[in-house]
Amino acid sequence: MMGSNFYLGRIWGVPIKLSFSWFLIFTLITWSLASGYLPKTYPMLNPLTYWLLGAATAVAFAGSVLLHELGHVYLALRNGVPVRGVTLFLFGGVAELEKEPGSPAAEFRIAIAGPAVSLLLAASFAAIWILGRNVPLLAAPTEYLMRINFLLALFNLIPGFPLDGGRVLRAAVWKYTRSYYRATRIASSSGQLVSLAFFGVGIFMMIQGNFFNGLWLAFIGWFLQNAASNASMQANVQQALTGSLVQDVMRRNLEQVHSLISLDELVNDRVLPGRSEVFIVSDFGTPQGILTINEITAIPQRKWPFTTTRQAMLPIDRMLPITPEMDLLSALRKMESAHAAQAKVINQNEIVGLLSVEDAMRYIRRRTRLGI
Ligand SMILES: [Zn+2]
Repeated sequence: MMGSNFYLGRIWGVPIKLSFSWFLIFTLITWSLASGYLPKTYPMLNPLTYWLLGAATAVAFAGSVLLHELGHVYLALRNGVPVRGVTLFLFGGVAELEKEPGSPAAEFRIAIAGPAVSLLLAASFAAIWILGRNVPLLAAPTEYLMRINFLLALFNLIPGFPLDGGRVLRAAVWKYTRSYYRATRIASSSGQLVSLAFFGVGIFMMIQGNFFNGLWLAFIGWFLQNAASNASMQANVQQALTGSLVQDVMRRNLEQVHSLISLDELVNDRVLPGRSEVFIVSDFGTPQGILTINEITAIPQRKWPFTTTRQAMLPIDRMLPITPEMDLLSALRKMESAHAAQAKVINQNEIVGLLSVEDAMRYIRRRTRLGI
C-alpha cells in the first residue's frame, strides 16, 4: 500500500500521503473547470488562464479535503487515539486510526470533526465569494469551493458506515446499547443499504442516459459496499477475539519426535494415522525445533526417506516467543508484523505450547458460528 502512495510530509507527527489515484481526480477536476465552468463564467480569457485557475482551484480542493481529515486527526489525538496516517485518494481522504475510540463520546467527536471543518470551509469560501465579488478571477473559484465543501460535508454525513455519518450513528447506537459490536453491525448494515441506494440510483441514471454521473454513483456504491462489509467482518472477528488469551487457543501436549528419524517414517507412523500434525523435535528431551505439515511439505517427497526431522524443522530459537497470558489479538498482531505463521508459547523458559494462525482462525470461526 505504501508503494502506491506519494509521501507529502508530516503534520503533528502523522504522515500525510497522496494516493496516485488522486492525480487522476486532480486532472479531471482541472480539466472540467478549465473547459466548462470557467470559460462559461469568464468568457474571452486565454486558455492558459483557464488551466492555471482550474489547477489552482483543484489544489485548493485538495487542501480542503486535507483539512477535513486533519479535523479527524486533531480530535483523535486529543482523545488518545494514535493516527497511523492520512491518505488523500479518489473520493477524498482517509485518516487511519491505530485503534477504535475508547468511548461513544470520543467516537462522536472524532467523526463529526471532519464534516464540521468542511462546513466551516464552505462558510469561509461563501464569505470570500460575497466580499470579493468584484475581484477579478476570485468569484468563480470560491463559489465552486464553497459548493464542493458543502457537498463534501453532506456526503460524509450520510449515516452509513464507513462514512463519518455512519460513525456518528455507531456512536449513538453504542451509547444507547452499550455494545460496540452491535453498534458496528448496525452502522455497517446501514452502510450497506446506503451503498445499495447509490448503486441503484447510479444504474438507473446510466439507463436514463446520464451515463458518466450514473457510473460514478454506482462506483461509489460499490466502494462503500466493500468498506461496510469489511467493517462488519472485522467487528465479528474482534468480538470473537476480545477476552481470549493465547492459552485458550494454543496447542498443548505437543508430541515429541526424535531429531534423527526420517520424514518418511514420521509421515507413515504418526502423521497419516492422524495422531498429530505438530511435533516438537527433541534431542534426548531437549526441544530443538517445531515440525508441522508445512515444514514437511516444504521438502520434496522424494527426499523424505533421506531427510531427518532435524533438517526439516523450524529451529526453536528462530521462533517468535509469546506468553500464555498474552491476549490473543495482540499475539496475532505481533505474529503478523513478524510474518510468522506460528509462535512458541513460553512460560518460565519452557515451551508450553504452540500458537498458529491457522488454529486461531479456526477458533474465531467456531466462536462466530456459535455467536459468542
Ligand atoms: Zn471524514
